[in-house]
Order: sequence, then structure tokens, then C-alpha cells
Amino acid sequence: MTAVVELAGVTRTYPGGVTAVREVSLAVGYGEMVAVVGPSGSGKSTMLHLIGTLDRPSSGTVRVDGYDVATLSDRQLSALRAHRIGFVFQQFHLAPAATALDNVADGLLYAGVPLRERRRRAAAALVRVGLGDRLDHRPHELSGGERQRVAIARAVAGDPALLLADEPTGNLDSAAGAGVMALLRELNAAGTTVLVITHDQEIAAALPRRVVMRDGEVTR
Ligand code: ADP
Repeated sequence: MTAVVELAGVTRTYPGGVTAVREVSLAVGYGEMVAVVGPSGSGKSTMLHLIGTLDRPSSGTVRVDGYDVATLSDRQLSALRAHRIGFVFQQFHLAPAATALDNVADGLLYAGVPLRERRRRAAAALVRVGLGDRLDHRPHELSGGERQRVAIARAVAGDPALLLADEPTGNLDSAAGAGVMALLRELNAAGTTVLVITHDQEIAAALPRRVVMRDGEVTR
């Protein structure tokens, strides 16, 4: 298996002394879809931040898309994130005054794509998530499920290898949540590797692989 994510003996201790992730080794292959589960405070978000190169480990090695993150400059890390990794969060994080199209197009800024091309790709991504008829809607004119779809369109507009989702259904009712999960599965079927943190047992049980965390360790 070629791994898109490879953690080897990764520990993250926060200033103040909490060790949120402890000696974790984990490999995720290209094309996998993985649920990350475990009680609140078990280190799931910290691990996702390490994988997303938003944070660096205190010790151990993080490899993403073949790169040892520790050997990359901040500039190279930003480029890796912009081109290879998409993020989706529970809170959507959309700009309230911007249309769905611009929210998605702005997500491509760091990839250095010119405006016209950003808009073209943003429209295509919104069509892909089923919002082709909502391009000009602002977040307050969309349902929760639709907002999360906009956030997912933004995350995949640059065609990342890896999509990281932290409780993407946490703010949605079960029907909207099921729709978002179906969309993530579609994106996975089309080739994107997906890691999704969830405390929803039903969602986790439906995914092909589960990584279980407890007290900062991956237990299986
Ligand atoms: P989970 O996502 O499973 O709820 P987290 O990774 O958010 O777990 O947190 C793991 C542990 O690290 C918790 O004890 C939490 O309080 C602590 N923690 C998380 N973020 C920080 C931070 N920025 N500074 C200090 N401690 C943190």
C-alpha cells in the first residue's frame, strides 16, 4: 500500500503539559475512507491537525503525500496544504457576506489560480456537491446541510489527494448529516482519500475502516 498519510511514533504535547497524542503510528493508503472515533478529549482533532500539517509533532515523523513534514519550510507546507489537502469543519467557516460561488472561489486563492479560473472551478465544485442552483446564495440563505456542502465544495475545488473532516455532521440533523456523508463517500469513490472524525456510531460503523483513539493513543 502506498500511504498518503504515515505517522510514525508521533507524540504531541501542548505547552502546559497535556500530551494529546502519544506514540501514534498509523498509515492511510491513497483512496481509503477512514472514520476516526473515540471519546471527547482522546486526541482526534489534534491528530487531524498534525495530519493536515496545521500543527507539528513534538516527536515522531509525519509524512503526507510522500513528504516528511519536518523537512518542509513554512512556505512549502502552505503549498502542500493548498494543493493536496482539503479541510471541512463542524462550524462550516463560510464568509457570511460572500456568495456560495465566492466562498468556494476564495478557497483557491492560495493555490495561485487566477480569478476567472477560480470561479469556473468553484462553479464546477458546487455542481458536484449538488448546489449548481445555489451559486449566488449567501450562507444565511442556505440550510445547514447546504452550508456544509459549500464547505465541502471549497475543500475539494482544488482536487486534493486528502480530505480531512472534523465532525462534519456535528451541527446537522440526521437527514442532512446522512446527505453529507453520502457526498463524502461519492468523493471517496471518485478517488479522494477521506479521513472523518465522528462521534456518531452509525456513521462510523458504515465506513470501511475505523481508527479508534483513547487517551491519545490509537487502540486499533
Ligand atoms: P478530541 O478531538 O478527541 O476531543 P483533542 O485533540 O481536541 O481531542 O484534545 C486532546 C487533549 O488535548 C484534551 O485533553 C484537550 O484538552 C487537549 N488540548 C487540545 N487542544 C489543546 C491546546 N491548543 N492547548 C492545550 N491543550 C489542548
